[in-house]
Amino acid sequence: MHVAGIRIGIGIDFHRLVSGRKLVLGGVEVPFELGLEGHSDADVLLHAICDALLGAAAMGDIGQHFPPDDPAYKDISSLKLLSRVRGLLAQAGYRPVQLDAVVIAEAPKLAPYVGEMRARIASCLGLPVGAVLVKATTSEGMGPMGRGEGIAAWAVALVSHRPSRGRGWRGWFQPPAPW
Ligand SMILES: [Zn+2]
Repeated sequence: MHVAGIRIGIGIDFHRLVSGRKLVLGGVEVPFELGLEGHSDADVLLHAICDALLGAAAMGDIGQHFPPDDPAYKDISSLKLLSRVRGLLAQAGYRPVQLDAVVIAEAPKLAPYVGEMRARIASCLGLPVGAVLVKATTSEGMGPMGRGEGIAAWAVALVSHRPSRGRGWRGWFQPPAPW
């Protein structure tokens, strides 16, 4: 297996739960009495994924590219930010290969929404759904997440760099099964 040009990145994000906000996770609105506080839609899962992708390409972090004090990003859908991250990576010759992410939330139960989150993220990044993994867990009542003060997300991303000899997309690293 050819693995040259494969790079890995990690992203972590936290947002507080507050009243009067929608809860948006992985691009999906999840019914809940609280939502995440933030300048954008505060989609903690997508922010972690953006940071993992930018990290894999050594292109800084989400706060550098989309400053939280910029009014252009007020309440913006983080799917748009993710799409822009895909564009930034493409300009630098990178494309996403695979993502694995974990959301830590005491409530609500996220399992019913994980499939739709995966589909939206995969579609935004031009990946097969089998290359986008999202898991949800709790912190067993421990710490701020366990007390329901906020939601955290961790993501790991694999990206591939364009081959230097102009072999086109066929020359890019392609993961084996399941896709
Ligand atoms: Zn964030």
